[in-house]
Amino acid sequence: MYTAADNRYTNMKYNRTGKSGLLLPAISLGLWHNFGNADQYENMKAIILGAFDRGVTHFDLANNYGPPGGEAERNFGKMLKEELYAYRDELIISTKAGYYMWQGPYGEWGSRKNLLASCDQSLKRMGLDYVDIFYSHRPDPNTPVEETMQALDSIVRSGKALYAGISNYNAEQTRKAAAVLKKLGTPCLIHQPRYSMLDRWVEAPGTTDGKSLLDVVEEEGMGSIVFSPLAQGRLSDKYINGVPADSRIGRSLPNGAIQEKDLNEALLSNIRQLNALALNRGQTLAQMAIAWLLKDQRVTSVLVGASSIGQLENSIDALKAPAFGVDELQQIEQILSQ
Ligand code: NDP
Repeated sequence: MYTAADNRYTNMKYNRTGKSGLLLPAISLGLWHNFGNADQYENMKAIILGAFDRGVTHFDLANNYGPPGGEAERNFGKMLKEELYAYRDELIISTKAGYYMWQGPYGEWGSRKNLLASCDQSLKRMGLDYVDIFYSHRPDPNTPVEETMQALDSIVRSGKALYAGISNYNAEQTRKAAAVLKKLGTPCLIHQPRYSMLDRWVEAPGTTDGKSLLDVVEEEGMGSIVFSPLAQGRLSDKYINGVPADSRIGRSLPNGAIQEKDLNEALLSNIRQLNALALNRGQTLAQMAIAWLLKDQRVTSVLVGASSIGQLENSIDALKAPAFGVDELQQIEQILSQ
């Protein structure tokens, strides 16, 4: 039976999620990949328990994580039951509904039917009475946002989730969703967008009055937890000299995982330059990529993935990074604009 490290809260930083009462670790762990059927349970255990030992209190799931869909929640549920249950009140567990999960017209998107059924399925797979955060995983162009937000509100009011969140909503959609939730009396806690040095859409103007998603998140008093901060591993030294067989690209994974076509010479040249800059700062490139995101106060938490505990330790050590100098930030901009 696992006993958590006594010093687990010594080195992690906790940030307030928008204007809410909830603190999240600056680095959270996601279970999109590496926690499915093809993965070794002992390795998953090393990563999750190792994360908690280092103050990572937040674990992010979704109904469809695996593969196959549902398996990440099942594996996490088994670990909760066998190892972590005594620590349930120290954990923030999230899940989501919206992407394809089961056959027929109710197995995906943003209807009340999909969200409520999916929430029940997720709780069952994880063996939980409630999750801490329940997300609408993506906006649904064919369902009124009022219906999707009412479903989130119902889930929170029924006690099956403590907080509501949205993911992959653009700036304008976020404003609308936040307004509906506010009216219902269940404020939107958090937005989960993709954000990394290689994908900066959250910084770009996105509303009719020129506000970016990050501006809207701040205006609405929400927090943000940004996913794929390493661009699925490309913002590391891993691919500099070719594609390792055991990497995400090398394993040819399904469900939106990066593939060989997502690497090209121009990108690799930028990655090599960023890597050199990171080494000059006494960091790995993965650490610099995480620290670069955390310099923005509107980013509550950086949501990393990891295929080993060594990787996760390396990522957490990003918190030891020296602050960026103006010249370093300019050099990063110059490399990224090539
Ligand atoms: P990352 O960008 O952090 O990529 C993780 C991968 O990068 C790892 O699997 C590993 O790749 C590599 N890696 C991790 N740490 C290091 C390190 N220190 N040094 C070198 N390589 C490293 O994030 P993900 O794309 O995995 O996404 C993270 C989480 O975000 C997901 O688990 C999920 O919770 C969430 N997410 C949410 C989405 C949404 O729609 N809301 C969509 C996608 C993700 P390798 O396997 O090659 O070793």
